[in-house]
Amino acid sequence: MSTIRLDHVTKRFAEVTAVDDVHFEIEDGELLVLVGPSGCGKTTLLRTIAGLETPTEGDVSLGDRRVTDVPARKRDVALVFQSFALFPHMTVRENISFNLRMQDNLAGDEIDERVVETAEMLDIEELLDRAISELSGGQKQRVSLGRAIVTNPAAFMLDEPLANLDANLRDQMETEIVRLQKRLDITTVHVTHNQSEAMTMGDRIAVMNDGQIQQIGDPEEVFYEPANRFIAEFIGSPTMNLLSATHSRGTGIEIDGADGHMLTIPVTVTAPRSRVTVGCRPEHVVVEHGRVSGSEWLTDEVAFTEFHGASKYLFLEPEGLDQIVVHVDSNSDYEQGDLVSVRFSPAEVHVFDAESGQRIEADVPDDAERSSEPVER
Ligand code: ATP
Repeated sequence: MSTIRLDHVTKRFAEVTAVDDVHFEIEDGELLVLVGPSGCGKTTLLRTIAGLETPTEGDVSLGDRRVTDVPARKRDVALVFQSFALFPHMTVRENISFNLRMQDNLAGDEIDERVVETAEMLDIEELLDRAISELSGGQKQRVSLGRAIVTNPAAFMLDEPLANLDANLRDQMETEIVRLQKRLDITTVHVTHNQSEAMTMGDRIAVMNDGQIQQIGDPEEVFYEPANRFIAEFIGSPTMNLLSATHSRGTGIEIDGADGHMLTIPVTVTAPRSRVTVGCRPEHVVVEHGRVSGSEWLTDEVAFTEFHGASKYLFLEPEGLDQIVVHVDSNSDYEQGDLVSVRFSPAEVHVFDAESGQRIEADVPDDAERSSEPVER
């Protein structure tokens, strides 16, 4: 077990700054998920922690040991890759035991014992004498996890290990990796571009973009209090409704282009800004059948709906405004073509600076919920 500390780590490849002044600490036994779009620097950061890349600037420490210049094989960090990286001509047993056999100090019996124990943990003991070529993708990924676990490393680095698996298997493996990680109590960094995988698995999530950590926090924090517009759009599916708006201390927030069907939100922001972007997740849009009067309500037809099992999404395409997506229970009776009124629940609204995209704290008046009750149908 070990803490991992990154001290202003930057990694440049010629013109590209893949990792830009990254500074955070991962606690002992924590599962941190690094998530971000393709090319944002996740793999480079993971490889820097593992010792496969040397930072251009900054330091990496494992526990209280500075390892910035220590080669990967001496860092006691195990890696699992998306590509499995197994030896195809060897059996499962030979693959799992490979790294142990490279160590001089282990007896054959002890190696056998540890391999069987690891295989049992991963539920692959019956596959031990099979060739890698005879395994399914999910089984190969378990073997590659086994090969990493068996060495009892100080930290575990997982680089998109589930990307090649089908959706059902991926869900199952997400749960299994978390269960295993908790059981072994091993500090783990898991890289993915899939925000839903990140939310499911992480004790904390570090959201990356353009080489920088945009926000680091537990999944609820990142979901409910995105630090900026990028995170608001990246985390959550379907994505947060984001609309350009004007803020004034008197009226609160008024959505641009909503003339004729007015849409105001009775929240004020502490910073003196007039141009803002206002966000509301589909789950926090309040919807009613028919026309509801009041400046907080926008009335429009449901352009189309999407069925997602227990949830249904209503898509509104009001003239002059961006699309608004609304979450309802799938057994509710909203259909395509229905006239509906929607408002953004003031307590669940996110406000971002129109220029910088940074979150601005908003004040919700005590009577905001009451004042936005429907008054007329
Ligand atoms: P993906 O999810 O697509 O794997 P990523 O977030 O893991 O992306 P990286 O692979 O870390 O991103 O790459 C970050 C940036 O650094 C990219 O612009 C990439 O082209 C560049 N890069 C990575 N490795 C090298 C290298 N060895 N030489 C030059 N540029 C590199």
